[in-house]
Amino acid sequence: MDCIFCKIISGERTGRKVYEDELVYVFEDINPQAPVHILIVPKKHIPTLLDLKEEDKPLMGHLYMVANMIARERGIADRGFRTLINCNPESGQTVYHIHLHLLGGRMMHWPPG
Ligand code: 5GP
Ligand code: ZN
Repeated sequence: MDCIFCKIISGERTGRKVYEDELVYVFEDINPQAPVHILIVPKKHIPTLLDLKEEDKPLMGHLYMVANMIARERGIADRGFRTLINCNPESGQTVYHIHLHLLGGRMMHWPPG
């Protein structure tokens, strides 16, 4: 499968790894939009939010628990941070392997652009 995130997870392509467990692979975004910009990626290839199945509910909860842990580790928990998942072109999704963005370390704006 020609998926850059699957290649990072398998080690075929390098990524600056932050954390890994049986369900997720976590690495620094190559084009950071904030001082902290980390991608929390399930090892299971799921193209978009719309492809989630009932059985993926625990996995998606786990992504948020990992975001919680890393936000604390990076010292952005109390200041505040943003988590988001883009879905399909108008959101700006460019990699079709679902991922949770963790952004922090600067003031965020609302509404997002
Ligand atoms: P999306 O736009 O799909 O929500 O997010 C994709 C993210 O993946 C972007 O923020 C982009 O910078 C990041 N990205 C794309 N290719 C690579 C890569 O090869 N390595 C890493 N570490 N990040 C990538
Ligand atoms: Zn993939």
